[in-house]
Amino acid sequence: MTSPSALLSSVFGFEAFRPGQQEIVEAVVAGQNALAIMPTGGGKSLCYQLPALCRDGVTVVISPLIALMRDQVRALHEAGVPAGALTSGNTDEETDAVFAALDRGELRLLYMAPERLASGGTVPFLRRIGVNLIAVDEAHCVSQWGHDFRPDYLRIGALRRDLNVPLAAFTATADAETRDEIVTRLFDGEAPKVFLHGFDRPNIHLAFAAKDQPRRQILAFAAARKGQSGIVYCGTRAKTETLAAALCAEGHAACHYHGGMEAEPRRAVETRFQREDGLIVVATVAFGMGVDKPDIRWVAHADLPKSIEAYYQEIGRAGRDGAPADTLTLYGADDIRLRRAQVDEGLAPPERKSADHARLNALLGLAEALGCRRQALLGYFGETSEPCGNCDLCATPPETFDGTEAVRKALSAILRTGEWFGSGHLIDILTGTETDKVRARGHSDLPTFGVGKDLNRREWQAVFRQMMGHDLVRPDPERHGALRMTHDARPILKGEAAITLRRDTMKAATQRPAVRMLVSEEDAPLLSALKAKRRALAEEQRVPAYVIFPDRTLIEMAETRPSTLDEMAGISGVGVKKLERYGALFLEVITGEATPAPHPQRRKLAGRDEGAVFDRLVEVQAELARGPMGVDKPMSCSTSLLARVAKQRPADPDSLARLLGDKRADRFGSAFLDVLNEA
Ligand code: ADP
Ligand code: ZN
Repeated sequence: MTSPSALLSSVFGFEAFRPGQQEIVEAVVAGQNALAIMPTGGGKSLCYQLPALCRDGVTVVISPLIALMRDQVRALHEAGVPAGALTSGNTDEETDAVFAALDRGELRLLYMAPERLASGGTVPFLRRIGVNLIAVDEAHCVSQWGHDFRPDYLRIGALRRDLNVPLAAFTATADAETRDEIVTRLFDGEAPKVFLHGFDRPNIHLAFAAKDQPRRQILAFAAARKGQSGIVYCGTRAKTETLAAALCAEGHAACHYHGGMEAEPRRAVETRFQREDGLIVVATVAFGMGVDKPDIRWVAHADLPKSIEAYYQEIGRAGRDGAPADTLTLYGADDIRLRRAQVDEGLAPPERKSADHARLNALLGLAEALGCRRQALLGYFGETSEPCGNCDLCATPPETFDGTEAVRKALSAILRTGEWFGSGHLIDILTGTETDKVRARGHSDLPTFGVGKDLNRREWQAVFRQMMGHDLVRPDPERHGALRMTHDARPILKGEAAITLRRDTMKAATQRPAVRMLVSEEDAPLLSALKAKRRALAEEQRVPAYVIFPDRTLIEMAETRPSTLDEMAGISGVGVKKLERYGALFLEVITGEATPAPHPQRRKLAGRDEGAVFDRLVEVQAELARGPMGVDKPMSCSTSLLARVAKQRPADPDSLARLLGDKRADRFGSAFLDVLNEA
């Protein structure tokens, strides 16, 4: 038996296990029943794929998502591992090929949709082909109380008993109830070895911002990440459509996605997202479980998520490949009102409602946090940690002030008006603004009238939002959202407790953040050349780009610039098979060594294919990145700009300069024109 760590590097090209993987792999290889709870992106698949290769016989993998199974099988083929899938998405030829390979005893992993378990022939079939390990992905689908319940998952327990082989179950859902249910249903209550792996996703940058021209905030965030795949989550279906349109108008590739769309266009978006490099999907939370793209570089929330769990899950879709990923969550008083109302107006029993309020409170606490966000987030999941250095608050600690006095004034305004008003009217009272409503109700005679002139309207809004965030006041749905004091506010009102508040930084939205790059400016042109090569290969083979190599691998290539195949083999993600298949091709991009004479077919293609022109532009740009003599300041064009040049093919220096701008036209103009003329 080859050792797991040898296979880790030879097949998958990874130098080391991720935290937690090794123990799980060892237990599964040893034939123990196992339940592993790992965050999304933690590297669960490896924990059954490696044991499958170490053990004799076939490993059957049960997974609820057909598209994901197909991608995994493709990725395994790329790594030289014989695997197959039996799903309703197969063509007859594909199914025949799987059976033939099984008959020849070649397959090591067989992916199967749970629906197949309903057929009586399945167990004898699995026994006949020599299944000796069952791996269950998304094991929480067995929980009848969860959102993702799959009735056929309930048959897995019987399958395990019938085959009498070890079972390894994987999920990212950690709460104790679900865990217990998995143990009962999959392992007949006989405790498996449980691996509870940490929740930290250190490569994900965390940031929140109070809403202030939210559309501009989102557009600015996306602009700084142009060309990178991202998701924008919105609270409403209508907003997904308008925001996607706004992003397209700014030159992004963006589309919308929500539960009100037909199945067909939804699937089309999912497929495009999976395949394309750099697409933005603007979606409601309906865009969820089917998303398994490891190279999502950013996630933005245009509206506050429903709870801290939802937040964690949604941002967790970014950066599964371990490369840096960015997030931004916008929130405002209206979000808090909406989310409270959703809980209050829901049909859940009272204890459930108060639990939901608590989960929302945890998220609001995170939004209004004064110290490291990651510490607050992990703290909620029961983990202690040091300040992370990778969140907005670690970078810029918030300006705070003693808000006790302001909060007491606000509470007093609320109480003196009988808890019948919303923040707008209350702020009028506090700032001494004589509106018709104030006059009509005689509120200008209140002792609180005008006591809050030291803060302006906007500052008061921030105070009220934070009071809602700290759950000192809650909108009452029975009173059209009027604010009512909660129990927690009493000590502050009575002068027994103090509270520190944040001063909102309002300038954030007006300045466009600098473009975030995955690598230094110097390495950027090479990275885009490597990506172009990857895209060409992916299109040729009709697979998602990351199946060829994930972002992380390309980043490492761009940064370390291997110059021989041996050095190439040392890059994380380059296994033996991939080295054989792609090593030389990527090496060529890096060293710029003489490309072998183009195939005649390719030459012909070059006349029409904008992809080929694009490739050439990337190459030429890489050569000129530091100017003709290699001594100038590094400069590059964005991928989308190069794509535009390839598409529009400007014929003369002037129209090219209009596209590129003067500085870039100076450096690249004539070389680009040469490329366009030879095409
Ligand atoms: P999940 O736990 O969400 O199922 P995956 O199994 O899809 O995560 O793994 C996420 C990404 O991490 C994949 O791109 C995978 O290739 C990569 N990965 C897994 N294990 C390692 C490792 N030991 N070293 C480097 N990358 C790894
Ligand atoms: Zn931090």
